[in-house]
Amino acid sequence: MTTLADPVPGGRPGDPERAAERAAELSAAGVSGVALSWVDTAGIGRVKTVPVAALARAATWGVGMSPVFDTFLADDSIVATDVLGGPDGDLRLFPDLDHLVPLAGQPGWAWAPVDRITQDGAPHPACTRTLLRRAVAAAAEEGLSFRAAVEVEFALGLAGDRHPDFAPACLGPAYGMTRLVEQSDFGADLLRALAAQQVEVDQLHPEYATGQYEVSVAAADPVAAADRSVLVRETVRAVAQRHGLRASFAPAVLAGGVGNGGHLHLSAWRDGSNLHAGGNGPLGMTADAAGFVAGIVEQLPALAALLTPSPSSYLRMQPSHWAGVYAVWGHENREAAVRVVTGMLGDRDRAANLEVKCVDLAANPYLALAGVIAAGLDGLRRRPEPGPPVSGDPAALDEAERHRRGIRRLPRTLPEAVDAFAASSLLRDALGDVLADAVVAVRRGEHARVQRLSPEAITEAYRWVY
Ligand code: GLU
Ligand code: MG
Repeated sequence: MTTLADPVPGGRPGDPERAAERAAELSAAGVSGVALSWVDTAGIGRVKTVPVAALARAATWGVGMSPVFDTFLADDSIVATDVLGGPDGDLRLFPDLDHLVPLAGQPGWAWAPVDRITQDGAPHPACTRTLLRRAVAAAAEEGLSFRAAVEVEFALGLAGDRHPDFAPACLGPAYGMTRLVEQSDFGADLLRALAAQQVEVDQLHPEYATGQYEVSVAAADPVAAADRSVLVRETVRAVAQRHGLRASFAPAVLAGGVGNGGHLHLSAWRDGSNLHAGGNGPLGMTADAAGFVAGIVEQLPALAALLTPSPSSYLRMQPSHWAGVYAVWGHENREAAVRVVTGMLGDRDRAANLEVKCVDLAANPYLALAGVIAAGLDGLRRRPEPGPPVSGDPAALDEAERHRRGIRRLPRTLPEAVDAFAASSLLRDALGDVLADAVVAVRRGEHARVQRLSPEAITEAYRWVY
């Protein structure tokens, strides 16, 4: 199956002309370069840039890049699968002009997410954006669509030689007005930059952990939501730098503390109606939405390899830290991996959705969304029983009671997550062999790198990379 959005050699109809027009606009606005951005299997944002004058050529013929990055680790060492990780071959990066924006936090630059295709014009099997785009297009053929958003939590630290480790940029209490005052100019500049980039922000607030803040944005189609989560992160990073600050998006910023989540909000819709509201099932869910939730909960241990993919992730995944370490669902329960959000009376047909809480920002957002949607769609079709919702903190129950109620703890380590993933034929089918093998190789490689390190050393190794 090809879709109208798939890039083709020579450019999709109209793209070369559109790219030339956009380049002229960008030049007139003082933009010199365009960052062509994508996220690798390890969750690292990678980039190549072209001068504005070369944008039309990039949108027509793509820009070269080695496929080796699909098996890069977060420290830039390389692992291999049977087809990835070698020095051979080249791919073309195609900027998506619909998502091209001038970067308000980096004057002189614009940004566009890319799809990657081979020199023969075929989709690259490890391109996670293409994977998600195609999964969404296939669901649309059945009348199904999705709305998604990724919450971005980050810890703000002081930059500079005097602060090689993490030195929090604010000292006030969680959700404290003091924190907003302490970083008043940064916060206002961040909102200004996001608005200038047409990112519709829902909220910006001080979070719980030391130095932590959060940006949440409006829901969009899943590909746009994943693009936006990358753009929001890069904007936070750039604005922070202009204020002498730096932002950590790592799952664990300080060993033993509450971490950064990247909670994923998602709703499934059929023919324009939200399946999570107005139904006869629990919490007003339709039978489709209940199946969707059940499918996700069932696959959560295997999904951990996509949602919590870093050794740092497992320092965050502690009970009673609101990270959602139990594979259960609950109504507005922040200790459940799937929190069902019903929304405000009167607004439920628009607002009802589910929040996958166990996700962090080491996750490649395209891969995370593709995996969760595949699991949900499987549930929507098979309609397994979602089981009763769980309220309260499962950690407060004793082990025997959790066992009696079928409350499973999500993987406690990265190897456990990889084993669960390797046993899921559903996720392998959804990702395809090339990408599924890359996930396994990269996660095993990441674990091998740090297995003898202390939690403090693991925290340090990943603090600034995501
Ligand atoms: N920081 C928490 C986490 O690690 C989440 C806090 C919240 O519920 O917003 O996911
Ligand atoms: Mg939060």
